[in-house]
Amino acid sequence: MSPVRLFILGVLSYIAWRLIRGLGQKKRTENGQRQSRSSGVKDVLVEDPVCHTLIPKGQAIRLRRQGKTFYFCSEKCCDTFTGESGGEE
Ligand SMILES: [Zn+2]
Repeated sequence: MSPVRLFILGVLSYIAWRLIRGLGQKKRTENGQRQSRSSGVKDVLVEDPVCHTLIPKGQAIRLRRQGKTFYFCSEKCCDTFTGESGGEE
């Protein structure tokens, strides 16, 4: 067996390995895009406990209190809520 033939075999196997690896990476990125798309479309509406307006969860102002999360349309409503329920502190 000639050393040139061995060299060509090595190069071919290297190219094949790179192709397989490249295909695997493409599949991974496609899956990632699908996941982010599905999670981005679904935006849940939440109710403001002060003025009872429905706001998309992503745009709402969040307040965590006693293990519960409250959502507000504006900082003004958030202030009103904290003023009503946390006055004793
Ligand atoms: Zn509000």
